[in-house]
Amino acid sequence: MTHLAAEELESLRVRLVARTDPRAVAALIRLRKDEFGLCVRCGEELEFAMLDAAPDLVLCTDCDEEARKARESSRHGICGMKQP
Ligand SMILES: [Zn+2]
Repeated sequence: MTHLAAEELESLRVRLVARTDPRAVAALIRLRKDEFGLCVRCGEELEFAMLDAAPDLVLCTDCDEEARKARESSRHGICGMKQP
């Protein structure tokens, strides 16, 4: 048995995961805060099938689509500025 307390181990575990996958850490933190499985944008409940496929999912289908569009339009904006 380790000499470390459960919460100390948990904190270290989260930081170890953070080195490889920040999205996984965000999901773990949300799990601990009891906010797991809810869309971070609209609060919509995410389907288990979707979480099962991607446990680090944070947006519902609608918000994910909107975020994707926003990213694309901002990317185009940056390209437009670079190209005369
Ligand atoms: Zn949403």
